[in-house]
Amino acid sequence: MSRFTRFLQSTFQFSSILFATAGCAFIWSSSVSQSQEPAKNKPAAEKLNYAIALHGGAGSAPSQFDDAANERRYKSLEKALQIGVDILKRGGTSLEAVENVVVFLENDPQFNAGVGAVFTATGGHELDASIMNGKNLACGSVAGVSHVKNPIILARLVMTKSSNVLLTGAGAEEFGKLMNVEMVDTKHFDTEAARKAWGKKKEQEANKQSSIFTGRQKSSEMVGSYQGTVGCVAFDSEGNLAAATSTGGLTNKRFGRVGDSPIIGAGTYADNESCAVSCTGTGEEFIRFAVAHDVSARVKYAGVDVETAVRDVLTKRLQPDDGGIIAVSRTGQITTQYSTEGMGSGAADSTGRFEINWKWK
Ligand code: ASP
Repeated sequence: MSRFTRFLQSTFQFSSILFATAGCAFIWSSSVSQSQEPAKNKPAAEKLNYAIALHGGAGSAPSQFDDAANERRYKSLEKALQIGVDILKRGGTSLEAVENVVVFLENDPQFNAGVGAVFTATGGHELDASIMNGKNLACGSVAGVSHVKNPIILARLVMTKSSNVLLTGAGAEEFGKLMNVEMVDTKHFDTEAARKAWGKKKEQEANKQSSIFTGRQKSSEMVGSYQGTVGCVAFDSEGNLAAATSTGGLTNKRFGRVGDSPIIGAGTYADNESCAVSCTGTGEEFIRFAVAHDVSARVKYAGVDVETAVRDVLTKRLQPDDGGIIAVSRTGQITTQYSTEGMGSGAADSTGRFEINWKWK
């Protein structure tokens, strides 16, 4: 066979694969949800002074909660967004904004981060968090901490006061004590809702409806971790980007399981040359596809806008129901998308835009 015939043959095979892939992507891309109207690419004249987005975890739809719970969740996201906006409005940094928003959500028992965190298989809590500064790629994270009241504060201290990036378990807590962060009894994180979800998950596992050993865990199977992980991305008046994510992980997790949230490049990423990203969903998939960094790389090297980059990662790399992604670009363009039934989110910028996406009526 001549070289050219081989070339034609391989080109044909490649095109067939391309067509097939494009076909599949088209079919499933229609099932990705966009929390907000696509943020327009602002023309240069409308240069944004700041922009911020947050999420309260991907998973169930509002229809699975009662009205009072939905209203509480809405109000909390609204308050958190306002905290971030106030910081950015007075000229605070994106880093300050994302940290404070996440601290607020960690202190709210409705979310699976800080108080309200899911239960592990041994009835405790192992919290993960990470933060990144897009200005210099400085980053810090903690995984598997059980006594740190606000893991995101410790993650920031890992970034600024240590020469490391990721600290885990007892060592991370030892560092926390040295840094004088607030430590609590692990019971501080207990909530009845998380305990109930833990019981349900154990039942599912006992009935073999879900397995910890094999198979891909769907967000819809994540009893109790629905709508729980929290994250924030921001763009400030100096043009600096930052991202932060915090979670209790998955209900009934064991063996020291760590998800994507404290993994820089998987659950969190920020680079002033591209965008800031925070993810939520089936952590194993987000790690496998280095999702947060993939979004950033697409913006940086392929020159696509954040909305396209996030959609392509959700539809072409991840599978339906894997989770959600929020991102803000270096010009302040915001996108919040998810492939699960729901994801609470919010977006605001210096034009006066202020939206919470959690509709139940
Ligand atoms: N991504 C988190 C984890 O895998 C869970 C979540 O976002 O719901 O730990």
